[in-house]
Amino acid sequence: AKESGKTSIQYFDALILNDFLQNVAIENKLKDAVFNQNFTLNFQPQYHIKDRKLRGMEALIRWKDSDGKMISPAVFIPIAEKNGAIVPIGTWVVEESIRCFADWKKKYTGHFVLSLNISAIQYKKTDFVDIVMQIIRKYDVDPHEIELEITESVLIDNFTEMTEKLCVLREYGFRISLDDFGTGYSSLSYLKGLPIDTLKIDKSFVDAMLVDDNARIITESIVYMVRKLGFETIAEGVETNEQFEYLKSIECDCIQGFLLGKPIPKDEVEKLLLRS
Ligand code: C2E
Ligand code: CA
Ligand code: CA
Ligand code: CA
Repeated sequence: AKESGKTSIQYFDALILNDFLQNVAIENKLKDAVFNQNFTLNFQPQYHIKDRKLRGMEALIRWKDSDGKMISPAVFIPIAEKNGAIVPIGTWVVEESIRCFADWKKKYTGHFVLSLNISAIQYKKTDFVDIVMQIIRKYDVDPHEIELEITESVLIDNFTEMTEKLCVLREYGFRISLDDFGTGYSSLSYLKGLPIDTLKIDKSFVDAMLVDDNARIITESIVYMVRKLGFETIAEGVETNEQFEYLKSIECDCIQGFLLGKPIPKDEVEKLLLRS
């Protein structure tokens, strides 16, 4: 900070420029990737805390660009949301994951759900309900086994209309999950009227809850409140036994995290299903 302000501003600009150029490069490659269907899916298991039984699998997209470099969805999904590529990408994720799921169902009789990340942009497109219903029928999958993960950003511009759409999806039998809970705005007011089944507690709370008293109190209160509201709770990003035991002690329902399973490709899911 004792350096001149100018240096730090120039440095900051360089970072923004670099970021911008990198985004442009990604954006160009993204067009090819969409065209060539250069994506794959991984699936991360979710478990009930009580008996450690499998609860579900969350589909997570992976992209290896033309140079063979893995680009994180945390980087390219926001770019795809800005340029509209999220629409074909999102439809591909829904179809490909449901195709895999239908295949597993033939070989494995246990009950588990498939969780899908639905971008706000994808959801707001008027034909989202039609698109999923078509795919559900094509692969003959029961909507009760499909969970749509949305974030609060879905509700921002048009709460009433978006909530009505969620109600329609729920009438068809889909489960609705509120993802990244605690990271957006006015979370509590949304909880009153939302037709949801599950709430996912963001990893940032899980990371902080055993380190910071306030984070622990908030996490504990969220779990308590959500249970009273009648929704299921899933804690995300659980990496240690201490976190697991603590979440169990406050009666969180389910966990997802590297402690019990990292995201894995389809073949490995089959092995996991046969073992469990
Ligand atoms: P998310 O939906 O919150 O997904 C959880 C992310 O946390 C995943 O990162 C997962 O690999 C990671 N994770 C899970 N457990 C742990 C853990 O114990 N430790 C750590 N350090 N990380 C853990 P991933 O796969 O890189 O995805 C990042 C984000 O990209 C997702 O966050 C989601 O917002 C978005 N995304 C991924 N796939 C899709 C997709 O198919 N469609 C859309 N719209 N977004 C997606
Ligand atoms: Ca998610
Ligand atoms: Ca999340
Ligand atoms: Ca997240």
